[in-house]
Amino acid sequence: MAESNPEINWDLEAYNLPEVQQNDLNQLLRLCEKHLKSYDKQLISKAFKLTYQSHKEGVRASGEPYYLHPLAVAAIIVEEIGLDDVSVAAALLHDTVEDTSVTLEDIQKHFGEVVVKLIDGLTKISGFFQSKGAKQAETFMKLLVYMADDLRVVLIKFADRLHNMRTLHHLPKPKQLRIANETSELYAPFAHRFGLYNIKSELEDLCLKASDEQAYKYIARRLKEKKDMRESFIREFMEPIREQLERSGFNFEIKGRPKHIFSIHKKMVRQQKPFEEIYDLFAIRIILDRPHAKEDCWRVYSFITDEYTPIPERFRDFISVPKANGYQSLHTTVITKRGRKVEVQIRTRQMDEIAEQGLAAHWKYKQGSEGGEGLDKFVNWVREVLENPGAESAQEFVKDFQLNLYSREIYVFTPNGELRTLPQGATPIDFAFDIHSQIGERAISAKVNGRLVPLRHKLSSGDQVEIVTGKVPNMNPDWIDYVVTHKARARLRQFLKHEQRKISDLGREAWEKKADRNKFELSDQDLARIARKLGFSSIQAMFFAIGNESYEINRLVKAVRSFLSKGRFEADDQEVNLHQARKLDSSEVIEDMQTANAHTLTLDGNLGNIKYSFAGCCKPIPGDDVMGYVSKEGLLKIHRSNCRNLMHLMKTSENAVQEVQWTKNTGGKFIGGIKVIGEDRQGLVNDLSDLLSNKLKTNMKGIHVESDDGTFEGTIVVHVEDLDHLRSVIANIRKVSGVKSAYRLE
Ligand code: MN
Repeated sequence: MAESNPEINWDLEAYNLPEVQQNDLNQLLRLCEKHLKSYDKQLISKAFKLTYQSHKEGVRASGEPYYLHPLAVAAIIVEEIGLDDVSVAAALLHDTVEDTSVTLEDIQKHFGEVVVKLIDGLTKISGFFQSKGAKQAETFMKLLVYMADDLRVVLIKFADRLHNMRTLHHLPKPKQLRIANETSELYAPFAHRFGLYNIKSELEDLCLKASDEQAYKYIARRLKEKKDMRESFIREFMEPIREQLERSGFNFEIKGRPKHIFSIHKKMVRQQKPFEEIYDLFAIRIILDRPHAKEDCWRVYSFITDEYTPIPERFRDFISVPKANGYQSLHTTVITKRGRKVEVQIRTRQMDEIAEQGLAAHWKYKQGSEGGEGLDKFVNWVREVLENPGAESAQEFVKDFQLNLYSREIYVFTPNGELRTLPQGATPIDFAFDIHSQIGERAISAKVNGRLVPLRHKLSSGDQVEIVTGKVPNMNPDWIDYVVTHKARARLRQFLKHEQRKISDLGREAWEKKADRNKFELSDQDLARIARKLGFSSIQAMFFAIGNESYEINRLVKAVRSFLSKGRFEADDQEVNLHQARKLDSSEVIEDMQTANAHTLTLDGNLGNIKYSFAGCCKPIPGDDVMGYVSKEGLLKIHRSNCRNLMHLMKTSENAVQEVQWTKNTGGKFIGGIKVIGEDRQGLVNDLSDLLSNKLKTNMKGIHVESDDGTFEGTIVVHVEDLDHLRSVIANIRKVSGVKSAYRLE
């Protein structure tokens, strides 16, 4: 069969490149020589010759000849990802079929089955990423399918995107922003998932450069200024360790890179801290060169802690328990003699390469040891997990690879093709609550991939789930056993509590009638004592038992009558009671909550008889994830779940922490802080206060403004009803002209 383009010299082996291009090729071959164990020089040369010829007319936005792009992508494949010669050839040819007259048949004829499969995969994949209407889910699933087909396709795609991002500044600004946006939404998270740490970091930095060049340049400049200081600090810090390592015969490398620009930026914005404070938290990494094994990491750890004082809470052993994406390392934070905190990471060379290159490194190692089986194994595993989650062989493979990317989460779809991530073991009930609490409440039945299934059916990745709902809530107390998500569980607990309350209200009503008829006069404390005497943990528990008729109300009437007639219990009873009462004095609150409320409280204004207040440190508002902390004095403080103080308290006394839930109508007013950053323009403060008080009818408690060098920084404190309210206020502030960012103060 004849090739598609007669202008190309298809006798690729004989074709002579012009001198400049021959030099380009030689450079690439030198890289292969340096980084690849073995490679087919002929294959790579042929691929380069074809790409050069077919892209001859093409010019990039930078004005450079087009072929330099595939060449650069191929170089990334060799140098930064470390794939094989087939991948290098595919990288060289990756745009030919899509952008030139070269066809897949041509590629097949001249490069064979493997290369053509890679190119075909690449061409298709790029279509999914580009098609505007592409659903997130669709993209994801197809990427998975292609990955399962050949992981190299995905890696080449990332290399392609990386080079496009590196040369992004040549494009017009709107296009830059669109591509940067797509990169931060699709490529960077995927790179992270695949453990391609270096690529992920660089992609994020380049996105920041495109979207906020000022911030990017500022941080880049400060990093450069600090470089000498950082290096001399590391030298000084490492000197005693280095000596010890050398004495003990270790081969090692020390790295002390700062965090990447994007993550510094993110922290500066989120934590509202100046560059210095964030920057100072860099980590020193000690990499043990081959043949060191993981046991050696522990020896090095002991060298470090002999020299410097470790902070025990900051110790992490990711060697015994690797992260989901395969990351392994020992982390410890120590304090220098001058009081500076330094994080030290200790790992072997292999762990380091896996940390930075993720799957690619896994593949490399597996390939090295088993002659190319690694990739096949990986591919098979992904297939197996996709087709049959929970299968034992798949589980074993996870252990083998320590790369359980998919074992903790499943991906399912709504009928519209929207992707939802749920924990492993999730059921249609979890799914329903994940979509909306009303759907969960009204769920009657579920269809998975078009077939009716019980609501307790366990979902698998790739399932398309449809929930059939009724007009009215249909919740069933048994559902609590079939859910794994926090959202569903929280709502069901609330429901159970509500059901329980209805029952205990019945009990209370019955009791009140009896009390009226018998003209009992009894304080709540006395009734509580009687309830306990009768074996109940609280009044509430007693009323519940009466309400559901498991306890005869007349027994209570009898006990009260005897209590009132004697004025007190019998002497021996009293002793028991005092004993109980004493115990309850110190931990009454916790006891009551644990028994009566089944570990869950509802924040409804009075929490039964328990007094509570909101923590001043994190100022929770309705809608926040919250936890209660019971102080030694028996007071319940409500914190936000991510509150640092709470974390600290939890460490000292975990038992004192209680789950709490908001009820729907709190009706109260809460205080929220908002940070506003923008251009310092005239009238901005006026516009903001006009927006708040006139348009949003939100009470402002205070506003504090600072401006510096044309930048406006304000803190606004407002009264809000709940989290949604605060969010909508923030969203509206963002729309004010001149405002660059607005976010909640943490
Ligand atoms: Mn490309």
